[in-house]
Order: sequence, then C-alpha cells, then structure tokens
Amino acid sequence: MSKQTHAFQAEVAQLLHLVTHSLYSNQEIFLRELISNASDACDKLRFEALNNTALYEDAPELQVRLSFDKAAKTLTITDNGIGMTAQEAIDHLGTIAKSGTKDFMSKLSGDQKSDAQLIGQFGVGFYSGFIVAEKITVETRRASAAAADGVRWISGGTGDFEVETITRAERGTSVILHLREEALEYANTWKLKEIVGKYSDHISLPILMEKEEWQDGELIDPNDEKAGRKPGGMVKTGEWETINKASALWTRPKKDISDEQYADFYKQISRDFEAPLTWTHNRVEGSTEYTQLLYIPSKAPQDLWNRDKKAGIKLYVKRVFIMDEAEALMPSYLRFVKGVVDSADLPLNVSRELLQESRDVKAIREGCTKRVLSMLEDLAKHDKAPESTDGVTDVLSDEDKAKLGQYTKLYAEFGAVLKEGLGEDFGNKDRLSKLLRFASTTSDTVSVSFADYKARMKEGQDAIYYITADTLAAAKNSPQLEVFKKKGIEVLLMTDRVDEWALNFVHEFDGTPLQSVAKGAFDLGKLQDEEEKKAAEDAAETFKPVLAKLKEALKDKAEDVRVTSRLVDSPACLVVTDDGMSMQLARMLKQAGQQAPEVKPVLEVNPEHALVKKLDGSVHFHDLAHILFDQALLAEGGLPADPAAYVKRVNALLS
Ligand code: ADP
Repeated sequence: MSKQTHAFQAEVAQLLHLVTHSLYSNQEIFLRELISNASDACDKLRFEALNNTALYEDAPELQVRLSFDKAAKTLTITDNGIGMTAQEAIDHLGTIAKSGTKDFMSKLSGDQKSDAQLIGQFGVGFYSGFIVAEKITVETRRASAAAADGVRWISGGTGDFEVETITRAERGTSVILHLREEALEYANTWKLKEIVGKYSDHISLPILMEKEEWQDGELIDPNDEKAGRKPGGMVKTGEWETINKASALWTRPKKDISDEQYADFYKQISRDFEAPLTWTHNRVEGSTEYTQLLYIPSKAPQDLWNRDKKAGIKLYVKRVFIMDEAEALMPSYLRFVKGVVDSADLPLNVSRELLQESRDVKAIREGCTKRVLSMLEDLAKHDKAPESTDGVTDVLSDEDKAKLGQYTKLYAEFGAVLKEGLGEDFGNKDRLSKLLRFASTTSDTVSVSFADYKARMKEGQDAIYYITADTLAAAKNSPQLEVFKKKGIEVLLMTDRVDEWALNFVHEFDGTPLQSVAKGAFDLGKLQDEEEKKAAEDAAETFKPVLAKLKEALKDKAEDVRVTSRLVDSPACLVVTDDGMSMQLARMLKQAGQQAPEVKPVLEVNPEHALVKKLDGSVHFHDLAHILFDQALLAEGGLPADPAAYVKRVNALLS
C-alpha cells in the first residue's frame, strides 16, 4: 500500500485541538498513557498467545523500551505487543470508538485541571502524545504478520493522518514523538525515569532504557595527556536496564506498600487524577483463592448513571491479565468500585460467558461485595466523631480522624447507586438499609440513617415518616409536612430519583414500618390526642355537604375528597392510596416516556383554612374547587392538566 491520507473523525480533530491546547499543566501524563497502551498491547498478545504460541515469534519476553535522540528531537516508546494491521491503525488511531464522546466534549469546561481529568476518564490516551509532540510517527506490525506488512502512520495532530506500508522486522509498535521545542526536556534519561517511577512503576511489564555512562571529552592538550580531558557527557552504552519495579502491586505484602503507592496504582488503573477515598487489599484463602485490591474513588465518573457501564474490576489469573471491566465480579450497584482481582483457580482462557457460570466467580463476587460493604460500614461508623457521654471528648486515633466526614462525602457521590442494591441484592438488603442516609426535617445534609431517626422518635410514634419529592426545597415545603412540623416529628426527605423505586423493597427498618406522609389516610396513632381526634371528626361531620359538592365538581380529577388534620397553613393537599404509586413517581415515568398508570389522587382539605371555610355558599364554588385542586397539585411539583384554564380561573377571581 502506498501512501494514503485519511481525515480524522470530526470528534478526534476536536479532541486533538483540546488536548494540545488545554493540557499543558499536566503534560507528563502522555508518557503514562502511551506506556499503558504499550502494556495493553502486550497483555493482548499474551492473551491471544494462550491458544497460539506462535504469536511470540522469537521474542517471548514482552517489554517496553524508551529511547530518545536529542539531535533528532525524538522520544520513542516501543513495545513488542500485539501490533496493528493497516486497517487497525486507521480505525484505532483515527476514530474514537467509545460511545459518549460527544457527550464528553460538551462537558469540557475550559478549566485545565478538570478537563484533564475528564480526558483521562474517557481514555483518549494515544492522542495525549500531541501534548508534547508536533508530529507523531507510529510504526507497527501485527504479531504473526509478515515483515513486509508493517505500517507507518504519521500525523501532525490536526486534520488528517497518512498511512503507508513499510517493512518492519520486529513485531509490535513504536510510537515516535517528534518533540515540540518546549518539550525537549523529555529527551532526558532522568526525566523519563522520574515519570515512569511516578506513574508506571507497577506495570507488570519491564520498561527498559539504554544505560548511559559518563564519558570524558577529548584531551585538552593533544600533546600532553597529563593536562587532562575536556568535560564530556552521558553516552549510551548499548546495554538496556529495567527502570520500573515491574512487579504487580497486589502480589506484594500489604506492609511493604505505602499509601502513596496504593494511590498511584489506583490512578494508573482508573485513569483518575484524584487519589481514591479508600481501599481494601486482601488475600482470600479457602475453597476459592484470590487476591482482591478494591478502591472507592473520591469522585463519581461522568457516566456513573449509565447502568450499562461496566464494572471497574480487572481480572487477572495468576498475574496474567485476562480482561477489563469484569462485570461478573461485582454487582451492578457497586459499579463505581475499581480494582483488581487475581484468581488462582480460574482457567487462563476463561471467557465472559464462562465467568457468568463459574462457581468460583460467584464466590469471588460474594466475597468482593462483602468486602466493599464492610469498607462502607467502617467509614459510616467513623463518619462522625463519637458524642461524648461524660463531657470528655474521646481522643481519636489518627486513623479514625482521617475517616471523619468520609462517608458523607462518599454517599454524596455514590449513595444513589448504592440504593439500586436494595432491589438487586436481597441477601445484603439489611446491611444496605443500614448504609442509607437521608436529609430530614431536622437535617439539611444527607446524613440521617434509619437508626438515627429511630433514636429520635417521639414517645408513642410507631412509624418512620418520609416524603419523596423532586427537590429538597419541594420536599421541605410540602403541605403534608405541616402537622409534623407543628408536633415536632421528624420526617425523612427523599429527593433521589431512585428513592421511590428503592422503597418498594424496604418496608420497615428494625421492626418499625416506613410510612409515606403523602400516602393513605392521615393517622398519627398515639401521637394524636383524643381532643384533636374529636375535633377532626366533628369537622368532617359539619363539612359533609360541602365535601359532597366538591366531590361532584372534581369527579374527573379526584378519587375522593375528605377533610384532614394533617394541614396547618395550607388549604388542601393531595395524597394517594396506601399501595398507590406516588404522584411524583407517576410523573417521572411519564417524563421518561414509560407507561404509568393514571393516578387519581385524593384531595384533602383543611377545614380550618379561610379559603375552605368560604366554599360553603360561594357563588364561585366551582372555580374555587378547581383552584384548590390545581394548587395542591402545583404545591407538590405537578402541573394542572389544563394550565390555561387554571390561570383564567385565578384571574377571574382576582379581578
Ligand atoms: P484506549 O487505549 O483507551 O483504547 P487510545 O486512544 O489510547 O485509547 O488507543 C486507541 C486504540 O489504539 C487502542 O484501543 C488500541 O487498539 C490501539 N493502540 C494504541 N496504542 C497501541 C499500541 N502500542 N499497540 C497496539 N495497539 C495500540
């Protein structure tokens, strides 16, 4: 194939522009990205070679070599991994295969630090070479292809790239960076060693550099050897040395690994720029043997909400990389966990399909889930400093101090995903419900557990009260809360989209039922005194004729109309039947284009309210009735079925 020019996919061109213009503050990551690609390429070769050892050709030692040429201003990263065919080079280095790239672009803020983080997450690694290179040449040959079927790919990182056939004896890929003038510092052994030490020490593959030796210059006086020599410089010796530790971090004993090394390893496998919140590292022995190193990130990734998002677990079998995103090893509601599982029992050629069926995998998955839950429980337990019982504040250990506030932080990022577990993992439902946190009428922060709530329950209170709404403001101002506020009863405010769904699976906590304040008839049980009950009954009696008229006027909108004592300041509110779907959930389903049953709510009116008192005998009865209903709907975040009619009615009354 002679030279061909191809245009980059539009997104790539756009991305390249961003990469070269916005990543200066994080320049050196390019090396980590390219080494990581080289390492992936070697992993792929090793994996394919399980069934075809010929792929190793005559070079079974997989490795990465770094070299530079100061005069030519180039830095080259060479691997003897799987390599690429011409078509693969065109496809992989000219397009972004990952879905959601457009979405990603729209999220870029122009702020270098956060953009750099996003770029890392989306894995556009190769293109980061253009941060330091004005031109990149890639020379590659696919393992087992003939030497004459090598490929050269060249691009200046703008609109297009060229591809041509070359002869390349060695299998694998060389990425040759033609360094920009201001990036010449990377053509330096020390600099490269420093960056490799920082980011790529744990790549389980040796990274080699040619050894350099100091050599004196020529004789100062050619006729007098004793006069000494001019200073020379570092000279390459032709001997290659390994510059990384090249040992899989998780195989080393815990005590030999520093927190910093754990954090660096996390950054390497997750492409996250931030340190993880916490991690757990264990060798599990027994009928199924494996090592797990699991991390909880500090921040949720952009695509956390995508339920198709694959798990963040890499599977190794006896230190050989098998696959990324091994979803069988972690339940979907823990998809934010990143890490490595290295099994001693699985066969090397295990496939995704096989994983789903394996009993060992099931055991590993259970073990990993339990570990993560323990990790969360530990953070939850140490989230707040223990309250002193005797006036003396306990002295916290440094380790415990470091955990203060961590769970709240974690929950803000991942709490909503965790809730999916209530419907997904029945075996761990109890543990999960203990991990839930909510805002409440006594706490604006999402920090109240069911246990906290129970400890604060009023004498005679026999339910955990909650309300669901779209926003915290809407929840807090719901008319349904009025009587609870008056009586000083705490109500949990649930504002996550998944809450309503998740609560389908949790009906009680530790023997106390959960009760929505917007569902069913109002009954505060023992919290209501006899006098109040009597007053309510009397009001219902005197109101009977008005209720009948209201019911008639609203027969298309309301299932029923009744008086209530749950309201204090508002004239009316809507509730649904005990087992009915909440109005909020019905709205949400409709918005999502899903089938939702028509919810006909019950209108409850406050007989003490001036507007309600006016109803009887009013010439505007019909309009008032509809306004009452529509306002109750508005108050809980809904919209009148006919907004224009509502406005007309209100205006008629106003004028
Ligand atoms: P990612 O590595 O996240 O897929 P990159 O932009 O870094 O994204 O690389 C795109 C693709 O190019 C890789 O998925 C791989 O198929 C191919 N590639 C990159 N570097 C190499 C390499 N050194 N050897 C073989 N293939 C490579």
